Amino acid sequence: MTPLAFPVDVYAARLDRARTLIAASGLDAIIVGPGPDLAYLLGVEGDTIERLTALVACADGETAVVVPRMELAKVRDTAVGALGLVVSDWVDGEDPYRLIEAAVPANAERIGVSDGLPALHVVPIGDRLGVRLELATPVLREGRMVKDAAEIAELRRAGAAIDAVHRRVPGLLRAGRTEREVAADIADAIVEEGHRTVEFVIVGSGANGADPHHEVSDRVIRDGDVVVVDIGGALPSGYNSDSTRTYAVGTPAPEAARRIAVLERAQQAAVDAVRPGVTAEQVDAAARDVLTAEGLGTAFLHRTGHGIGISTHEEPYIAPGNGLPLREGMAFSIEPGIYFPGEWGSRIEDIVVVTADGCERLNVAPHGLTPAGDTPGS
Ligand code: ZN
Ligand code: ZN
Ligand code: ZN
Repeated sequence: MTPLAFPVDVYAARLDRARTLIAASGLDAIIVGPGPDLAYLLGVEGDTIERLTALVACADGETAVVVPRMELAKVRDTAVGALGLVVSDWVDGEDPYRLIEAAVPANAERIGVSDGLPALHVVPIGDRLGVRLELATPVLREGRMVKDAAEIAELRRAGAAIDAVHRRVPGLLRAGRTEREVAADIADAIVEEGHRTVEFVIVGSGANGADPHHEVSDRVIRDGDVVVVDIGGALPSGYNSDSTRTYAVGTPAPEAARRIAVLERAQQAAVDAVRPGVTAEQVDAAARDVLTAEGLGTAFLHRTGHGIGISTHEEPYIAPGNGLPLREGMAFSIEPGIYFPGEWGSRIEDIVVVTADGCERLNVAPHGLTPAGDTPGS
C-alpha cells in the first residue's frame, strides 16, 4: 500500500471545506472523478478511465465513493478507508450509474462534475439524473488554489530537489553532446534527488530554445550555445517541482548575455510585485513592463506563470486579463521568457508562495546566464 501523503485529518479538513463550498455555491452535490481533485480530497491516485470511480459529495454533508470492486482494496487504503466513508462497489457487467443516482440527493437540481471526469461517464450520468450537469471547477479550484502549511512544506521540498538537479546541469551540458543525451542524465538526476516521477525535461539548445514548447531533439550542442533547461518532477507525495534556468555553453554572443540580464531583472520585478491583494495580471505586467521598456516585449510570447501543487499547471494563472487578487498560500511560477526564432531563447522560472507581506521563493539556484560545459581548449 502507498502511504497517504498527509495525516488523515488533512483530508478530513479538505473534505469539510469542499462541503462548505458546495453549499455556498448553490450546488446540491458534486461528482469528482480520478485525477488531481480526487488525489487532493482523498489521496486516491491513479486514473482508471473506462471503469467509473467517483466521489459524490453532497451539500447536506453526505458522501459516497463509487468504485469498481477490483479497485476496492486500493481505495480503502486511502483517506476513503481512514475516514470511514461510504463505499459502493460494482463489478463489470453492472450499471455503476445507478450507484451515482442513489448517492445524490433525491430532487437534486444542480449537480457539478469535476473537469477531469471523462465524457464517457458525464453523458450517461447526465442522462440518468435528468439534470444539466455543471462544472464543479469553482468549488474544487478554491480548495486547491490556496495551499495549507503541509502542502507548502512539500512544495519547498520539491523546490530544493529540483534546485539540486539544476546544480548538476553544468556538469552534464557540454559541446558535442545531444540534447537527448543531456536530458536522459537530467531525468536520472531528477529521480536521484528525491522525486518519484520525472514529469518533463526540456533541453532547448540554440535555435530550439526559441520555441517555448520544444522538448528535446538529437541536435548536438555547440560551443557558444544558449541552452534553456526547464525541468520538473513529482515527489512521493504527488507535489510538483518546476524550474527553468538558462545555461551558456562556452561564450555566447555578448548581445545574448545583455538580453538575458534584462530577463533576469524582469523576473525579479515580478517576484518583487507578489503580495496579498495584488492581482495576477499585475504580477504579469511587472515582468512584461521591464521587457517592453527594453524593446523585448514582443519576444515574450506567453503568460508569466501558472499555479502548481498536486498538478504542474493549475490555478492561479499569472496572465494578462486575470484580475484575481493573490492570497497568502497561493503557489505559482514566475517564468518570463524571451524567444528569437531561428536564433536562441531564454526563460527563468522560480516557484513562489505568497506570504503575509510578499512571497517566499522556493528556487534559489543562480538566476542569470549560468556557465556550463567545458571551456574551449580545456
Ligand atoms: Zn505552454
Ligand atoms: Zn517550467
Ligand atoms: Zn512552469
